[in-house]
Amino acid sequence: MRFETKAVHAGRGIDPVTGAVTTPIHLSTTYERSEDGSYTDGFMYSRGDNPNRRSLEQCLTELENGHDCVTYASGMAAITSVIEALPEDQPKRIVMADDMYFGVRTLLMETDIGRRYDIVTVDMTNLDEVKNTVESAETGLIWMESPSNPQIKIIDIEAVAGIAKAAGAYSVIDNTAATPMLQQPLSLGVDFSLHSVTKYIGGHSDLLLGAVIAKEDSEMLKNLRTAQHAKGAVPSSFDCWLALRGVQSLSARLNMQCTSAAAIADFLATHEKVEEVYYPGLKNHPGHEIAARQMSGFGGLLSFQVKGGAAEALKVANTVGLITQATSLGGTHTYIEHRASVEKELTKAPDNLLRLSVGLEHVEDLKEDLDQALGHITV
Ligand code: PLP
Repeated sequence: MRFETKAVHAGRGIDPVTGAVTTPIHLSTTYERSEDGSYTDGFMYSRGDNPNRRSLEQCLTELENGHDCVTYASGMAAITSVIEALPEDQPKRIVMADDMYFGVRTLLMETDIGRRYDIVTVDMTNLDEVKNTVESAETGLIWMESPSNPQIKIIDIEAVAGIAKAAGAYSVIDNTAATPMLQQPLSLGVDFSLHSVTKYIGGHSDLLLGAVIAKEDSEMLKNLRTAQHAKGAVPSSFDCWLALRGVQSLSARLNMQCTSAAAIADFLATHEKVEEVYYPGLKNHPGHEIAARQMSGFGGLLSFQVKGGAAEALKVANTVGLITQATSLGGTHTYIEHRASVEKELTKAPDNLLRLSVGLEHVEDLKEDLDQALGHITV
């Protein structure tokens, strides 16, 4: 089956009890035990497993052509679990991309999780640097994010996964911005692909959920499954149900978001108040050729630097009308955000950079709104 078909059907079917076409929401936390001690349908207690979560995990496994999927209460819970699942015998050294979702940097720099590991960051668009860094000391895990957030850097995923394999390290990619529709990292050799399902897969800014999809069985996958149950950062049945509702329209939404984002990137690239645009679909983006090879579309996320500094960028973010100044991405509404002021002193985002998550509004309305807001800049 093709992606669009799997997005509608994988992991789901007609409800055998009622004939309902939409999977019912199962809120029961506990299940009846038979006289022989077994559980007829394999469910015992909903932290361990439940029908909605199982459906979602099966669906995401199929969408990424993986072996298995483990879901968590948020993208950050998934990320924390991946780091903690690194097997005991693996070196406690993690090589990470230098541009990535800020929450991961906070996790590694401001919590005990990061202090348990030797964290090294590297510009993963430079393969020589990646290889040298990985080979300079024993490495347990290589962490990618592509396209990255907020600088929209593109990593050659297959090449970095190869470097990880040669070094005996596990490789992980945060595939949130690309989604399983535009990028299939497991087929490029990556061991684990993870998502903030909160974003494009959920698609409506109304649920928090994280997922990790494994390429194959491994000790690390076993650790992830054990931690899901034992540590208990599980998603609710309702959130799983919402994610399964959202994923059905992923291709329809994302096709439109890709088309609109490309048109907005073109518009901004020639705008007199804009200094630079970062969108992998633009031919002059340094990662354009790699993105064209490893992605089936360039996504709905872009960043741009306005002429001037933080004050001018904030003026644009504050004077958009239709567009919402808000964090997050992948929803139906278009969001603009000045990442440097959100991330504060730890930020690596240029202070004149704005991130735009393109929603489902008409692209001409979005361009007009950006144009009027850019009109407030006087440089
Ligand atoms: N990964 C990326 C790329 C993100 O943008 C985010 C959230 O913004 C996360 C992970 C964390 O996901 P969540 O907010 O679902 O915990």
